Amino acid sequence: MAELSLAVNAVLNTQSARDSAAEEPTAALKVNLLGLNHQKLVSFFESIGEKKFRAAQVLKWIHQLGVIDFDAMTNISKGLREKLKRTATLELPEIIQQLDSKDGTRKFLIRESGGSVIETVYIPEGNRGTLCVSSQVGCALDCSFCMTGKQGFSRDLDAFEIIGQVWLAAKSFGQFGEDRPRKITNVVMMGMGEPLLNFDNVVDSMNIMMHDNAYGISKRRVTLSTSGVVPALDRLGEYTDCCLAISLHAANDELRNELVPINKKYPIAMLLESAQRYIENTPDNRRKITIEYTLIDHVNDRMEHAVELADLLRDVPVKINLIPFNPFNLSNYKRVSNNQLHRFRDYLIEQGYIVTVRTTRGDDIDAACGQLAGQVNDRTRRSERYKAKFEEEQAIKIITPEQ
Ligand code: SAH
Ligand code: SF4
Repeated sequence: MAELSLAVNAVLNTQSARDSAAEEPTAALKVNLLGLNHQKLVSFFESIGEKKFRAAQVLKWIHQLGVIDFDAMTNISKGLREKLKRTATLELPEIIQQLDSKDGTRKFLIRESGGSVIETVYIPEGNRGTLCVSSQVGCALDCSFCMTGKQGFSRDLDAFEIIGQVWLAAKSFGQFGEDRPRKITNVVMMGMGEPLLNFDNVVDSMNIMMHDNAYGISKRRVTLSTSGVVPALDRLGEYTDCCLAISLHAANDELRNELVPINKKYPIAMLLESAQRYIENTPDNRRKITIEYTLIDHVNDRMEHAVELADLLRDVPVKINLIPFNPFNLSNYKRVSNNQLHRFRDYLIEQGYIVTVRTTRGDDIDAACGQLAGQVNDRTRRSERYKAKFEEEQAIKIITPEQ
């Protein structure tokens, strides 16, 4: 907050100096209001000597009515609009490609400032429309089955770049304006990146998603997914009460260390305890943790794994989401067979668990985690390293049978 006031004061001071010189302030000095949650907008208005209630008005203009032109904000006086134009901007990331699948899935390739490309996917399902939002460009955590991880980490997304994905998707569905049908009913932080490693920006943008003067999405319909950054998860409840998904993928530490390397630092028991504390402390503590389990052929999809998983979660309030592994060209892993997927699911159901299976959507537009942006961003060293390693392994495989 202090940083924000300093930035605004700097803009205002620079402005008064410039007024005499009749110059416009540079865009870089202005505050981008798009990523400010209600509380930060209140501080912004106070810092420019204006009333607090302006925050709710502006939040509504931007995120409920989809207006990003100060001149169109008609309940704000002309004088204040001019002041806003001098001190603030409303800048959005840019959609560079929109792909529509036959099944209604829509994928956005979005260019963020600095040229990085990220992806956002919209998945309709009955009355529900879920937007899968990215939190980082790439990811540092390097899970062995994840395309985003193979790209390495480039940078955190700013709050305006995270909420900007929701704004752009809402705009593309024409859902802005009073009484328009809401196409985006749910948001999952399951796109590129590890949301808990970009804590402040993710929490701020989730706040905007849930605020009544903005998108007004219920806290039961905004889900943060994490591979297990325990210290950040321990703090999460102080800032939000969104739903929680844990990317587990293995029920013993040895296997999870291999699939989700952050497990070496924060092992399963520690992670589940932290997740349980978070859920117990939410105001309606009857909610369940979603356990995500990506099924990889002959890696974690055997019946002994199902038994181990059922035993591990016996006393934890969970629902289990099974995700068939989505193959990509830098991985030797294979998708679970349908037979095995059903056996695995049926066993867990028999054991009393609520189990859902994530169906493959948007196949014709590569709408799976990290894939399309991967083709564009595929320039990091880690990605090159994986490519080299993968090609070497392929060469060994081809040579071996002939020896
Ligand atoms: N970093 C966070 C959120 C982004 S990943 C996390 O790991 O939870 C979102 C989900 O997509 C995770 O559950 C992850 O395991 C899954 N995922 C990643 N790559 C996948 C692949 N190739 N096939 C199937 N699921 C994948
Ligand atoms: Fe990062 Fe999540 Fe992918 Fe793991 S699964 S590399 S944490 S984005």
